[in-house]
Amino acid sequence: MDRQDVVAFLNELFPPALAEDWDRSGLQVGPLEGPCRRVVVALDFDLEVARDLSAVDLVVTHHPLLFRPLDHVLPETPLGAKLQALLSSRTACYAVHTPYDSAQGGLGEVLAGYLGLEEVRPLSPRGRLVKLAVFVPCGHADRVAEAVFAAGAGEIGRYGRCSFRSRGIGTFLPGEGSHPYLGEVGREERVDEIRLETVVPAERLPAVLAAVKGTHPYEEVAYDVYPLENPSPLHGLGRGGDLPGPAAASDVVCRFGEALGGAGPRAVYGDLGREVRRVALCGGSGGDLWEDALAFGAELYLTGEIGYHQGRAASESGLTAVAFGHQETERPFVGHVGRLLNERFPDLMVVER
Ligand SMILES: [Zn+2]
Repeated sequence: MDRQDVVAFLNELFPPALAEDWDRSGLQVGPLEGPCRRVVVALDFDLEVARDLSAVDLVVTHHPLLFRPLDHVLPETPLGAKLQALLSSRTACYAVHTPYDSAQGGLGEVLAGYLGLEEVRPLSPRGRLVKLAVFVPCGHADRVAEAVFAAGAGEIGRYGRCSFRSRGIGTFLPGEGSHPYLGEVGREERVDEIRLETVVPAERLPAVLAAVKGTHPYEEVAYDVYPLENPSPLHGLGRGGDLPGPAAASDVVCRFGEALGGAGPRAVYGDLGREVRRVALCGGSGGDLWEDALAFGAELYLTGEIGYHQGRAASESGLTAVAFGHQETERPFVGHVGRLLNERFPDLMVVER
């Protein structure tokens, strides 16, 4: 397979459209052209990773190597040495940062899975929804609807295949050089049509439009895409959910630390002796999300880093907040993404660092 195939797969799972405004996810150092036989997956592109890039085609990191604008690149600095190593070995470097944090099936679900949380939802929904209305001649609406649902449209909460259909008259005048499915060039046509409308997560729109064009009988498909103010509840930073039953906060903290490979709590704000049921989680620097965790109704908030004043404010508001370390809570990226790549590309050599 090619480097592009690997990147396309990552983008499908963790859509770049979910990146935060300030983020630098995506291609950092090229080229993306060329075959891909060996991939390194790492949390950070550190000097250890840079040391041995021989026969490495692509490095996939969580944190972007290039984050702030550069004034200059000096080979004697750590960053310069890393860039030099990448460029001289023609190894590409690709970051999957906040899209991995936000996407359904990313870090949030991995961490929630450690505690067996139920009814898991983002603390701060980030995805965008659009409304798609497509005009289809009667008799073809089911075929088009099947295709758009299969491409990811029409989901509202636990309900799938949601659409609304209204009937009307479509008009069109085929111009010179057109090949109309109905009617003839130069004569205005009136056709019984269905206005088929449905909601689409914004990142699925290209696939959904391809599905429309692949199944709609017309040469030129008439469709409208409207931005919606409704947030998509599928994606977003942080996750919250319910434990299968009430448990002592201290036990939950122990279990979470064990699941992280034995990480102990770095900082605790609030009461660990209480019984909790609703838990919020955010890997990495989740301090800013404590109010979202509180609004979610969480009693316990487990994150990577939380500032002293944020922790104090959380505990005074009745939320027990515990920090386990930035790296410790994001380290699952490496094994998770490594496994996903192995499953999708069995011939690819995946090295987890
Ligand atoms: Zn991080």
